[in-house]
Amino acid sequence: PSMEHEIVRRKVENDVQEFWLFIRSELNKMKGLSAGNANLLSKINSVLADSAGYHRTLTSDLKSLSSVDDMEEWRNNESRELGELVQRRFHYIQNPADCSKAKKIVCNLGKGCGYGCQLHHVTYCLMMAYANKRTLILESKGWRYATGGWESVFQPLSNTCNSYSSSSLRSWGGMIKDMNEVQVIELPIIDSLHPRPEYLPLAIPDDIGDRLIRLHGDPSVWWIGQFVKYLTRPQQHLLEEMEKTKRNLGFKNPIVGVHVRRTDKVGMEAAFHEIQEYMVYVEEWFSILEARQAVKKRRVYLASDDPGVLSDARKLYKNYEFISDNEISKSAGLNSRYTDASLRGVIIDIHFLSLCDYLVCTFSSQVCRVAYEIMQTMHGDASSYFKSLDDIYYFGGQNAHNMEVIESNVPKDDSEIELQPKDLIGIAGNHWDGYSKGVNRRTGKNGLFPSYKVKNKVLRAKLPTYEEVEH
Ligand code: GDP
Repeated sequence: PSMEHEIVRRKVENDVQEFWLFIRSELNKMKGLSAGNANLLSKINSVLADSAGYHRTLTSDLKSLSSVDDMEEWRNNESRELGELVQRRFHYIQNPADCSKAKKIVCNLGKGCGYGCQLHHVTYCLMMAYANKRTLILESKGWRYATGGWESVFQPLSNTCNSYSSSSLRSWGGMIKDMNEVQVIELPIIDSLHPRPEYLPLAIPDDIGDRLIRLHGDPSVWWIGQFVKYLTRPQQHLLEEMEKTKRNLGFKNPIVGVHVRRTDKVGMEAAFHEIQEYMVYVEEWFSILEARQAVKKRRVYLASDDPGVLSDARKLYKNYEFISDNEISKSAGLNSRYTDASLRGVIIDIHFLSLCDYLVCTFSSQVCRVAYEIMQTMHGDASSYFKSLDDIYYFGGQNAHNMEVIESNVPKDDSEIELQPKDLIGIAGNHWDGYSKGVNRRTGKNGLFPSYKVKNKVLRAKLPTYEEVEH
């Protein structure tokens, strides 16, 4: 398929989704207004049910359209080939012939945050290494999740080069006139990086930009996913643990992954969501699948930091099979290799979430964003295989994310902003009700606008093209 074809097809998919979110939200609001009028209420309910039917059929037809003429096979091959190319480049940069002479970047795993956040920190470091043709050295001894460090669960980032001479160490930026002359550079966390290189997320590498844009609905996530994949290549014992857990859980596709992030996050960085809010989308996904194939059992992999969620879900949704690692790890006894039991738990949860066919979660959580990133490395284009109850996808510390206006908007009330074609909108979020929020860079005004009036703008950055690595 041509790039134009794929871009338009994905746009239609997205428009159908936004249209449905809009109709559903508006009809639900009308139900609130129909108080006491039983006839009207019943009419709205029947329009809702039929609209859901139209949405189901449209989504299912679009899915069929995406796989005619072996297009799905092409997509899978293209994603695999591009992935292999990128992985070969990572191997090349991480395994210099002469470590003592190699230019390096040093990062420390001790960023004071959770596993997902730390993994994203290392992702950013490897991206900086790639952009500057340097080998990444990761300092991870005394890691809060495993005192033995990164290698106690994941393969070392290099087979040949894991140390540096501290005499040649300088901090990134600052007083250094020519960074090229410095052998070893220590990076700050992404939020403290000044000036900010344009190749940081959500930019994609220009040299494979056309292929990525043709292949994937959100090429930035695909690109980030490749870094995460390289970084989290499991040690043999972790691989065995994953396989054993898969058997014990009875993990089988089709399955939807639900991640419910609560405890310390609620109120601080995210809102509380009932399990029912997640399940609306799980039900919808299965009903669309069932329009296409028989489903013996509706299965959900449930991950959460709140152990009460599982019993709630089972009580409320008796026709579902909920599987969860929480039970297994409690009954099986924890592997003594993990100094901190929570490391095994979060790695296993992310692993199984990423193996699901669809994800329902809050993208405010890095746990779910990591799962979504890894998911992209296992499919042709899994960019639409998710529903986030809050944020749109982002990478912490990313450069400004802009959307481009494709249709003008005249504000209907004070909450909306004016749009003109070609305006750039710094996107703040999608309200998943037909409207998005952002700032118009031309007028400086902040507010809502119909989501269908903008399209994503993918930034392409010039990065090394690694001609010396096999294409
Ligand atoms: P965020 O705070 O949700 O954005 O993600 P972080 O990974 O930075 O920090 C949250 C931490 O809470 C994780 O690293 C885990 O240690 C723990 N956690 C959150 N959700 C889950 C879950 O579903 N399963 C497990 N096992 N741990 C979780």
